[in-house]
Amino acid sequence: MPYQAILEQIHAEIAPTLPQGRMPDYIPQLASVEPTRFGMAVCDTDGHFAAVGDAEERFSIQSISKVFTLTLAMQREGEALWRRVGREPSGTAFNSLVQLEFEHGIPRNPFINAGALVVTDMVISHQGDAKAALRDFARRLCGDDDVDYDYTVAESEAAKGHRNAAVAHFLKSFGNLDNHPDAVLDAYFHHCALSMSCAELARTFMYLARYGRNADGPIVTPSQAKYINSLMLTCGTYDAVGDFAYRVGLPAKSGVGGGIVAVMPGQFSVCVWAPGLNASGNSLAGTLALERFATLSGHSIF
Ligand code: GLU
Repeated sequence: MPYQAILEQIHAEIAPTLPQGRMPDYIPQLASVEPTRFGMAVCDTDGHFAAVGDAEERFSIQSISKVFTLTLAMQREGEALWRRVGREPSGTAFNSLVQLEFEHGIPRNPFINAGALVVTDMVISHQGDAKAALRDFARRLCGDDDVDYDYTVAESEAAKGHRNAAVAHFLKSFGNLDNHPDAVLDAYFHHCALSMSCAELARTFMYLARYGRNADGPIVTPSQAKYINSLMLTCGTYDAVGDFAYRVGLPAKSGVGGGIVAVMPGQFSVCVWAPGLNASGNSLAGTLALERFATLSGHSIF
């Protein structure tokens, strides 16, 4: 597959759309990123790698980290995880409180903030230092030991994180957090502030393209890889998940830092970064780029 030529064609095609995205302003540190940055990288199961633009530039992975947190929790918790979190699309904003009240403190899925806070709580209970656990997991899977948190982003989010704090305390009031909400929020804000490049994220997500294995061995079981990919397809791209699946046809997880990672099981992992967002909170140019990638490569799960 001529991935390099495909990425270069996409880069040229989507360049005019880069200034059209809206920068997130609720995490002050993210609003200062240059909106016309663009990077894209793909790894395949035969070991090929291709990249364009700012593919080696690190950015704030934000909600993409929720896939790593879920993976860590699933490794230890297995099916018991689903007693505390659902696995249905939410149909409400990723940081909504309303649904949580109606559904007695059981978040709809692990990729909305409430669900990620519960999953983070599990990782703290299993591993103690959830910040080190997630950072080390990312380092190991992408093979780069200097991957780290952007502490300025974590502080910037904590300073403005009143809604997430409300969600965490709300969960605690329902008995769905074992640890103190402050400890859960601290780990969660850091997880969101992990800084990685498209090249690193494409490498890291290969375990989901390889049925749960990375180059060194199993990370999760093949069934768990299926579960995670299914959740990305149904819950991974905010309230635009139906439109995203229609257009791209691949399991994917996005973040408000402008990154989106998509996986074609058995074939490849692809990551795009373009910081301007669309109205749903997904990268505007990133969504277009992945739609073109699916079309030009001829690959989607459908
Ligand atoms: N750290 C962000 C928040 O909790 C994550 C948002 C996102 O990427 O979806 O609001």
